[in-house]
Amino acid sequence: MKYLMIFICAMTLMGCVSSSGWRVDTQEVEREVSKTLQLFPSQTNYRILIVPDTVAVAAEYTRIYGGSTQAPAFYSSIENLIVIPRECELNILRHEIGHAVVQAYFKAPIPTWLHEELAQRAELP
Ligand SMILES: [Zn+2]
Repeated sequence: MKYLMIFICAMTLMGCVSSSGWRVDTQEVEREVSKTLQLFPSQTNYRILIVPDTVAVAAEYTRIYGGSTQAPAFYSSIENLIVIPRECELNILRHEIGHAVVQAYFKAPIPTWLHEELAQRAELP
């Protein structure tokens, strides 16, 4: 089931073309991120929600957290969900998948600053 879900996510994002024209395989990006962080969780069950633009990203953020955000994309540990616009930079996708990998790897909650630090490290391959 998990593989099917990831596969569907990957297929959905295949259709994602950014301003710079790349198409992406999220499983491949996840492997890169795991290698960069040296974190290999046994399973990652996160979902990726692709929305039209950053206005829709903010709307999803409000739905989950009630507040507002200017973030270009975000990862919600509550829903284990990445919300990302159809057009975005690859480093942003790496960052959010970084959060999902960190979340899946550590069984206990880790400090927010460490979560962010690791996600930032995931941005570059
Ligand atoms: Zn972050």
